[in-house]
Amino acid sequence: MLNFTVGPVMSSAEVLEIGGEQVPYFRTTEFSEIMLENERLMLDFSNAPKGSGAVFMTNSSSGSMEAAVMNCFTPEDRVLVIDGGSFGHRFVKICEIHDIPHEVIKLEAGEKLTKERLYQQDGKNYTGLLVNIDETSTGVLYDSEMIGEYCREFGLFYVCDCVSSFLADSFNMSKCGADVMITGSQKALACPPGISIIVLSENAIERVKNNKVKSMYFDLKDALSNMERGQTPFTPAVGILRQINVRLKEIEKAGGVEEEVNRVASLAKDFREKIKGMPFEMFSQSPANGVTSLHPLNADAYEIFLELKDNYGIWVCPNGGELAHSIFRVGHIGCLNAKDNTTLVNALKDLQNKGKL
Ligand SMILES: *Cc1c(COP(=O)(O)O)cnc(C)c1O
Repeated sequence: MLNFTVGPVMSSAEVLEIGGEQVPYFRTTEFSEIMLENERLMLDFSNAPKGSGAVFMTNSSSGSMEAAVMNCFTPEDRVLVIDGGSFGHRFVKICEIHDIPHEVIKLEAGEKLTKERLYQQDGKNYTGLLVNIDETSTGVLYDSEMIGEYCREFGLFYVCDCVSSFLADSFNMSKCGADVMITGSQKALACPPGISIIVLSENAIERVKNNKVKSMYFDLKDALSNMERGQTPFTPAVGILRQINVRLKEIEKAGGVEEEVNRVASLAKDFREKIKGMPFEMFSQSPANGVTSLHPLNADAYEIFLELKDNYGIWVCPNGGELAHSIFRVGHIGCLNAKDNTTLVNALKDLQNKGKL
């Protein structure tokens, strides 16, 4: 299988090897050391400011999106949500469920967020902002620093869902002033699904500590205090945390987060160049590095996904809902290289020769 989806993605041989090992007991100093090293590397790779902390949640990233909202906001807040697709919409839904007052900037599928559009909303009316830095459903990248400037100007608590952009697009928590950064194990971290990481600034930690969340499992206070000794309140996905450790150290050894972002960026560029002249339209107005969303001009997008999967053993990412037949996505995250891009492009050319594209 050659996997170009946006997660789960392909893992390195070292990460796969750990998946075949026995899972160790975890209330040990050995495991605590792995966790503290994971935290150090996560804070480093997200350029988190001094005083920040990271927690490792055993849930998919949607659980962490919900935990962040529940622990950081109350009905006294008023939150601005950027909703440009299914992930933005998920934040809206979470605010609705937890009675967090909110307003929405609704963008068309594929539309980028301009400064003009953002500033149409008077920042004085809000206490916080929620955004998915890469709206993965369409591969639109928002400008974390432009939004950060707006949040700084009006004193908004700034939550960034970087689930698919962490390690794929450059993100500097200190520079953009984000209070919370969320990511997950199965996107550019290229490990199996099951762990999601929340990085919290000092300000966010303060807010969490002063807030009384009505949840046991999603109580970030509890997660933070356990993390002081490299532990978690409940049994975590121990095996995946060991895989994350190997993966983070691989990235560090290869030159760190900038190198990794450059690697993903050049893979995306390579693919986009190789499909030039083919009957596709780029769907995103500001494409993220992690994913290319394509609108086939003469064919049904879902049929292309099926053809590639069933006849070539290549997986691209289909879309759901209204876009299911008009776009599909090609991921550039995970253990992929330029040769893999050629394999995919050759399969697409073959489909074209057969009149199916
Ligand atoms: C994948 C993704 C999520 C949700 O991840 P799950 O692990 O499926 O819960 C959230 N936000 C963004 C931007 C994503 O790409």
